[in-house]
Amino acid sequence: MRRRTFLKASAAAGALAAVSSAMPISLSNLEESRVKADAMKEEKWVNSFCTNCVGWCPLRVRVVNGKAVHVEGNPLSKTTGGKICPKGHLGLQQMYDPDRIKGPMKRTNPKKGKNEDPQFVPISWDEALETVANKMKELRNSGNAHKVVLNRGRYNTLDVHLLYERFCKVYGTPNNISHSSICAEATKQGRQMADGVWDYVGIDLERTNYLLCFGMSPLEAHRPYTRLLNAFGKVRDRANRIKMVVVDPRMSVSAAKADEWVALNPGTDGALANAIAHVILTEGLWDKNFVGDFVNPEDKFTTGKTIMETSGTNEAGEPIPTFVENETHGLIKWWNMVLKDATPEWAADITGISADRIIKIAKEFATTKPAYAWSGRGTGMRPNGAYCTYSVYVLNGLVGSIDVPGGIIYPSGSTYAEDPIDHTVVMDDIANKGLEQPRIDNRRSKQFPNAGVVTAQLGEAILNEDPYNVEMILAYFNNFTFSIPNTKVYEEAYAKVPFIVHITPMMAELTTYADIILPTPTSFEKWNYTHPVKSGLYAETRISTPVVQPLYDTMQTADITLELAKRIGGSVAKTFEGVNVQEYIKARLGEMQSWDEWMEKGIHVKDPYKIGSTREIGFPTPTGKFEFFANTTKLLFEERGISVTNDADMARIKVDARGDLVYLPHWEKPKDLGTKEEYPLLLISYKSALAGEGRTANNPWAQDRFLVQYGAGNTTFAEINPDTAEKWGINEGDLVKVSSLFGEVQCQAKLSEGIHPDILAMVYGNGHWAYGRFAKDKGVNPNDLKGTDYEYISGSSSYYNTRVKVTKV
Ligand code: SF4
Repeated sequence: MRRRTFLKASAAAGALAAVSSAMPISLSNLEESRVKADAMKEEKWVNSFCTNCVGWCPLRVRVVNGKAVHVEGNPLSKTTGGKICPKGHLGLQQMYDPDRIKGPMKRTNPKKGKNEDPQFVPISWDEALETVANKMKELRNSGNAHKVVLNRGRYNTLDVHLLYERFCKVYGTPNNISHSSICAEATKQGRQMADGVWDYVGIDLERTNYLLCFGMSPLEAHRPYTRLLNAFGKVRDRANRIKMVVVDPRMSVSAAKADEWVALNPGTDGALANAIAHVILTEGLWDKNFVGDFVNPEDKFTTGKTIMETSGTNEAGEPIPTFVENETHGLIKWWNMVLKDATPEWAADITGISADRIIKIAKEFATTKPAYAWSGRGTGMRPNGAYCTYSVYVLNGLVGSIDVPGGIIYPSGSTYAEDPIDHTVVMDDIANKGLEQPRIDNRRSKQFPNAGVVTAQLGEAILNEDPYNVEMILAYFNNFTFSIPNTKVYEEAYAKVPFIVHITPMMAELTTYADIILPTPTSFEKWNYTHPVKSGLYAETRISTPVVQPLYDTMQTADITLELAKRIGGSVAKTFEGVNVQEYIKARLGEMQSWDEWMEKGIHVKDPYKIGSTREIGFPTPTGKFEFFANTTKLLFEERGISVTNDADMARIKVDARGDLVYLPHWEKPKDLGTKEEYPLLLISYKSALAGEGRTANNPWAQDRFLVQYGAGNTTFAEINPDTAEKWGINEGDLVKVSSLFGEVQCQAKLSEGIHPDILAMVYGNGHWAYGRFAKDKGVNPNDLKGTDYEYISGSSSYYNTRVKVTKV
């Protein structure tokens, strides 16, 4: 429905309501009108999916008389069990948001900046697309295709296939910058060091008996939230109720629901994990089947004692190993170089958790099978984070929770039909030359050796024109001036870029820097397909069909891609010639099931993953084993020319270790931004259960209860421990100033025993200065306080190492 039609319909509905209210009310009148309303009612259910996180939960939307009125989970999903999380319902408010961008616009104020009014004026789609295509053509023809930078925020499979991959390639820019390294790449890094897999972890959660969560909150904001909530409900309800222990300096919603909350000192997760491993080995509790055993049954792991790798030679002169590992590699080296001295007492000093408690947790974890040790952003997104995540992940190997029921599993993904465009990709000289240029984000370099992308490098690259100046940004579904730490840098950087195009349904902070706005429909108004992040046993593919006609004058990203290609012409146009979004979707999904089935079910579910099948073929590591010594990383460093004995090489990635220790799960001291003397508290930000990666910011339902644990909304608190507050004379509700080396904000103090005395916690998601009436000027943005730093190996932004001070205003 176009805007004018929509307004007409709304006016008619308003007039009807006014007439109705003037009628005398009686029971018979009511009954009569109900019968009439029923007779007039045109109702249908349409298949769609939620795009508020990478769970992409399949949904069914109830549409009555052309209006979407209700959302529920698709009952055919084995992953979600037909449920959705609270954010799934927000799709309705997102679609009917009164502040949506209603048509293409162009900027008329050439000055860019946070305090500049862009003075946008409406333009036609033809003018908008022609302007963008002409600019891209001009840059391409002048040999500057590589100076066009794509910024990707929330993606879906369709846009990845068309825009992020194909379009960038044939156009000739190597600079497709996704948001992945401000998401969770550090957790993938730690995992890859152990089992060679670069992906989110799949868990057979429904059969797990013990959950040990480090720096993550499965019942608050971890994806895919629906599946986790659903599974957690089941495992807590069953006769042998799962035990959950949450390690976090903040009492998250998950910690509040857990059996135990372990409030360790921030940034010390790796030390705790190493001490748990120490106890498991010294107590003889490791899984002999998966890990292996000593050749001599008398041998054992003794605190402080080195174990010889071999014990003499056999008759053939071959060395006899002291310990024969089955499906793992590197245990003795790990013991000798790290674990023999990583005692609970050593860790107690670092973590603030008593040695007795560490021993108890270690024994429970090793003996309550199957158990799963889980780590998230809090553990990984900081310098040294890869080692903390690696240290947690390998605990699963020690207790044999790998590829077994109730443990880590290795589900396969969706099987799409061959991409029809692959056959027609036309690369010309301009494209080839453009792709030869260095990428501006420094990925896969000596500084970010394993990074698939380094999102946060964008700011410095633009400001320093290193390795070259950026002429144009084509951004979609992202808000990097708000979501990347050290927001000032990005505000300055985006103000410097001569031409910015934002593909977005909302006027985000980043949109105010745009020269051209190309408005998109929300998820319920378009064709789409996707698959969720790997999580459980089932690989599912989902399709979304328009629930209602687009409300405004919008165009979906895939169509924008095709239109731009056509107008740029030449080989770019040729590559996408004849492609139509619906036909493309049909071609990619066609082999899974018939189109009629797609329309009826909205989902395709593959047969479940066969547990144990990955162990049968071996892990994708250089040794084929689960590695306590990261050969994958060793090979990678060698390829990048990084020497683990070279101080400059190690300093560049902020690693203290030298030699083989670099490849072992170990703990390194946190490297914070700001001194403890000047900034006594560490800033820990967290995501609300109602934060849909920014897209829910302007939804009143979400805002009202944004701070779920406090029953509050529409604000941000500076959350501190009462003892900390007392030190600085701060009372509950006081207005306080929080400052760091990088910025300052003011908000209300919230005193809570659930906050470690050394930290200041702050929810992420509020503090918008644009976005819409329900989001604007509500609370503050913790990213305004944070500095730029990284978990360098993976290129992940560091969100948890900025120190702050707090004073009463
Ligand atoms: S927010 Fe994520 S978990 Fe929740 S319904 Fe949407 S896709 Fe599913």
